[in-house]
Amino acid sequence: MRSLRAELNDLQRRQLRREHRVLSGPQGPEVLVDGKPAVNFCSNDYLGLAAHPQVVGALQKAAGVFGVGSGSAHLVSGYSDAHRALEGELAEFTGRPRALLFSSGYMANLGVISALLRHGDRVFQDRLNHASLLDAAVLSRARLRRYPHADSDAVSRWVAPAQGGDCMIVSDGVFSMDGDLAPLPKLAALARAHRAWLMVDDAHGLGVLGATGGGSLEHYGLDSREVPILVGTLGKAFGTFGAFVAGDTDLIEYLMQKARTYIYTTAPPPAVAEATRVSLAIARREVWRRTHLGELIARFRDAVKGFGLPLQESFTPIQPVIAGSAERALAWSRRLAREGILVTPIRPPTVPEGSARLRITLSAVHTDQHLARLLDGLRLLGEEERG
Ligand SMILES: *Cc1c(COP(=O)(O)O)cnc(C)c1O
Repeated sequence: MRSLRAELNDLQRRQLRREHRVLSGPQGPEVLVDGKPAVNFCSNDYLGLAAHPQVVGALQKAAGVFGVGSGSAHLVSGYSDAHRALEGELAEFTGRPRALLFSSGYMANLGVISALLRHGDRVFQDRLNHASLLDAAVLSRARLRRYPHADSDAVSRWVAPAQGGDCMIVSDGVFSMDGDLAPLPKLAALARAHRAWLMVDDAHGLGVLGATGGGSLEHYGLDSREVPILVGTLGKAFGTFGAFVAGDTDLIEYLMQKARTYIYTTAPPPAVAEATRVSLAIARREVWRRTHLGELIARFRDAVKGFGLPLQESFTPIQPVIAGSAERALAWSRRLAREGILVTPIRPPTVPEGSARLRITLSAVHTDQHLARLLDGLRLLGEEERG
């Protein structure tokens, strides 16, 4: 048996050991973290809906109606009219015949890929895809090939030779640690030309990109024929919890029968589904949230470009500043913490070796004053780096 203590010590020595930061109170732009107030710049609550009074109210009211637990799996007795209504609204929102709720994005990805692919099939994934997509491929027993980031030419070379078995191309819509977009129009063209599945996980695009918050697909103007399998999560821009897959009737019916992470798990609490119905409506209706977010992003980038920090190319709320070593990312994060700014460092294996970073995220509920605090902190960091 190997020594867990030795491995933990090794993580500690390489500055890779992760720790909890304990929040008291709600998620939001200003949080109480480990007992101290801080401005939060590392949440995925991009639209500021996680603690929105109407969303909270919907959860409370629905708990009075449905109670807390769903009591069982969707296909036993855990599926309520709250789940059904939310699925209908998500289908309508994504312009697809049907949607199916999962308990989390991780589970949705495991469920979809392992249900659709089997030994003898091939799956092509972007090197920077979310861990759940890569794990799903392993679980499916299909042959996994990871292509260089956003390199549709590599996909084109690999997908072309016809072999027995099905092919699937899988990509994040917006890359979770980098904030850039996948070349979806090219991937869609390849998938159609080679009769491959195309699956897009738009955890960071939905609610944020596109005029109505339709995400990466709306940004590019792609429909359900071009991207037949769309996964979205509810714990990010929509501020609640859970995930869904949207697609045509046969896809959804098939997943209901075959996706093991759908079948063998307790359905999410109905009150959470009711809260999500409200947050989805707000996300669609309140265009100012996306407009304000866009303005914050533009001003952030304008300012940071003058600080001499390595800011990555991105027009989404995910704005990475690359530190390189884990040690430096940790030091930067601690430096900002002293200024009352919360940005957790992102280190390997979440990102490739040598690309540890501050993954700064902006939210529609950040004010001009919050942004000014962040910029002051980053200006200091830039000055101290230059010596
Ligand atoms: C967060 C995330 C997931 C996982 O979703 P959860 O609902 O948090 O399990 C899946 N894919 C991507 C791209 C993500 O960023």
